[in-house]
Amino acid sequence: MAEDVRADVCIIGGGLTGVSAALELAEKGYKVALVEAQDIGWGASGRNGGQIVPGLATDIRVLEKLVGTETAKILWDFSLGAIESIHSRVQKHQIDCDLRSGYLHAAIKKRQVEDLLSWQTALDRFGHPPTKLLRGAALRGALDSPRYLAALSDPAGGHLHPLNYTLGLAQAAQEAGAQLFVRSPVRQIKPGTEIVVETPKGAIRSGFLLVCGNAYLGQLLPSISPYVMPVGTYIAATEPLGEDRARALIPSLAAVADLNFVLDYFRLSADYRLLFGGRVSYSTVPPPQLGSAMLRRMHKVFPQLIGVQAEYAWGGNVAITRNRAPHLGRLRDNLFFAQGFSGHGVALTGWAGKLMAELIAKQSTDFDVFTRIPHRKFPGGRWLRTPALLLATTAYRLLDLV
Ligand SMILES: Cc1cc2nc3c(=O)[nH]c(=O)nc-3n(C[C@H](O)[C@H](O)[C@H](O)COP(=O)(O)OP(=O)(O)OC[C@H]3O[C@@H](n4cnc5c(N)ncnc54)[C@H](O)[C@@H]3O)c2cc1C
Repeated sequence: MAEDVRADVCIIGGGLTGVSAALELAEKGYKVALVEAQDIGWGASGRNGGQIVPGLATDIRVLEKLVGTETAKILWDFSLGAIESIHSRVQKHQIDCDLRSGYLHAAIKKRQVEDLLSWQTALDRFGHPPTKLLRGAALRGALDSPRYLAALSDPAGGHLHPLNYTLGLAQAAQEAGAQLFVRSPVRQIKPGTEIVVETPKGAIRSGFLLVCGNAYLGQLLPSISPYVMPVGTYIAATEPLGEDRARALIPSLAAVADLNFVLDYFRLSADYRLLFGGRVSYSTVPPPQLGSAMLRRMHKVFPQLIGVQAEYAWGGNVAITRNRAPHLGRLRDNLFFAQGFSGHGVALTGWAGKLMAELIAKQSTDFDVFTRIPHRKFPGGRWLRTPALLLATTAYRLLDLV
């Protein structure tokens, strides 16, 4: 940004939430100005595992207890709509992002197999597309790892190249008329009938503001920051394995995640690397020797890969909420925010963008269904919430170990 700009809607954040909202609004004819502190897709959206996971990060049965069956069902349908909208956007805008369907939720322990069965019943009750429990030879035919006892095969999930998808949406938004300003950090928001958003070299005046900074927003809006905790999470990419060797690991070519609290998640890339994600850092400081640390976890899953190197390893921040459900809301009639997608943002962010656009266009108030989810602040304030979260999660990590 090098000058002042006027727009109907200003959007802070050039991740999947922001660019989806920009695209939807520009397609509806709004004058949109999006401001991004770094580059489009620089945040979690360009760094993530690319796994398209159905549902919210909150377990479907927990969600039902939180908001009741009727609302939980609507939210579940939103998550399926979010996945459908990825497919339709990729097709409509011809986004080259290696989109593929197929997802395996993998169980390491006996109690997790029982959990998968109970979960399958809940999914059927919610009208989810039919899932299949794989064991024995059927499991090995889909995923050749000695670590898992069973896996629930879910046709709704899948995977894609997240940065290419984000950049593709951004390009489509630009082509529809949205203005995207990169390397323009927002320093201050001045609310009012006309909202003023200030960056070092220019300001945007607009009738509406959408705040989509997620784990990278910091203290820009102090009233929403205590509801999310930025947590570091990490991925390693092997050297290219060659098609035959790669396909032998995951013959189904599905994205895979286990059921542990600190989970492993992985998939093959289009150039046949294994992309292996896992580990968390509540301080957001990456673990030392990240590549080797990730390889150790990968070898537990695929001992066949001992000797294979990690060519790349990286991390990023994911914003978690206390109940892991996304935190969407209105601060004023013309100021909305969406954050806290936890590990389910690839799909849900796109839906959040669409719902914010529909709210502004007065086409639907579906956005407000998300505001029925009760959210609580992380205890401990700005400085103590990390130690508090560490204490609270230690018990879950111990459960993973046993
Ligand atoms: C390593 C990793 C792996 C993950 N794996 C998966 C996965 O496999 N599947 C899945 O569903 N989810 C996954 N996630 C989560 C998912 O990536 C996020 O939920 C999602 O990308 C959030 O999108 P967003 O647009 O809300 O936020 P982001 O993509 O983080 O974008 C926010 C943007 O706002 C900008 N910003 C912040 N403050 C300002 C400001 N003051 N001024 C201007 N700009 C600002 C930031 O620079 C940033 O670019 C993963 C996350 C990480 C980090």
